[in-house]
Amino acid sequence: MNGEPMLHVGDHKISLDRKESGSTVDFISHAHTDHISAAKRSNSILASAQTIDLLGALGINASLSSGFLNAELMPAGHILGSRQLYVNDEDKGTSYLYSGDFQMQESAAAESIKTRNADVLIIDSTYPNPGINFGIKDDIISDVQSWVASALNTGCVLFSAYAMGKAQELIAVMNEIGIMPVVTKKISTISSVYRKNGISLRYVSAYDGSDYEDILNGDFVGISEQRDINELAYRLQTVHKKKFHTAVVTGFASFMHFDTDAQFNLSDHADFAQSVDYINEVSPKQILTYGHNAERFAANLSKFGYNATPFSQQSFMFAKQITAMGQKQKTKEYIY
Ligand SMILES: [Zn+2]
Repeated sequence: MNGEPMLHVGDHKISLDRKESGSTVDFISHAHTDHISAAKRSNSILASAQTIDLLGALGINASLSSGFLNAELMPAGHILGSRQLYVNDEDKGTSYLYSGDFQMQESAAAESIKTRNADVLIIDSTYPNPGINFGIKDDIISDVQSWVASALNTGCVLFSAYAMGKAQELIAVMNEIGIMPVVTKKISTISSVYRKNGISLRYVSAYDGSDYEDILNGDFVGISEQRDINELAYRLQTVHKKKFHTAVVTGFASFMHFDTDAQFNLSDHADFAQSVDYINEVSPKQILTYGHNAERFAANLSKFGYNATPFSQQSFMFAKQITAMGQKQKTKEYIY
């Protein structure tokens, strides 16, 4: 994609989760597929080491550049290695924070988010509507765990979960109640990167688990990234001659109906209220909304009294100008 806005700081043009022509630095906030278009083509990637590891698990060989920019990468709480980007433009006296995908609630499979004050906040717009509410994660986890315990009385359980991030959180949630789930090859490959980075996960797969066959003989919990989980359940039911209870685990479950036995809205994103909490912690002078729903998110934030505009090159330059002016005014007041 060309022509998306970039963060201009000094001589640097920093692309945010996209490869833009003319960028001098390409920031990759995390390894989800909609954020990594720069990974294959950039010579100047800025990302966490875990993100580079996860890209490797996806078959993408990327390497980090170093020393080109005085930036701080801060945990975003979203998935393993997810980072916010903080850059301070010392010449202009303006600081910038780009959120990437972020989550305010604790996850067993991601480092907790850290926030700091910044003049300009560029914020992800995945969930722009005040009506979206992901609820309290601990309550949802308890619901998942008790549903599984009861479903296992009458057969096996099959989950559909996104292979990177959600599947690992679900493995941790199952481990908490003493269950070692059976996972697909893709989930196993990605989970091994989590393990390597110190996140304790216990699971088996056909590719790396010695007690795999034993577990399959009993009533087990399976996790697959396959979206049509009922089709997979039907096939397994025929092979194993057992009942399979199906469930999907996704933030979309808070506002979409899935044709499964159960659905749980376990999200690794912030909902609208959590985004507002995040904004209040960062306390920016200007908010630039970023991504597919940028217009709607800016409009909704404005209704709540925030100074928010969709991120375009123009809005960025304007924010840069007025925050720099604000800084000057402060200095003047101080001097006189
Ligand atoms: Zn993501």
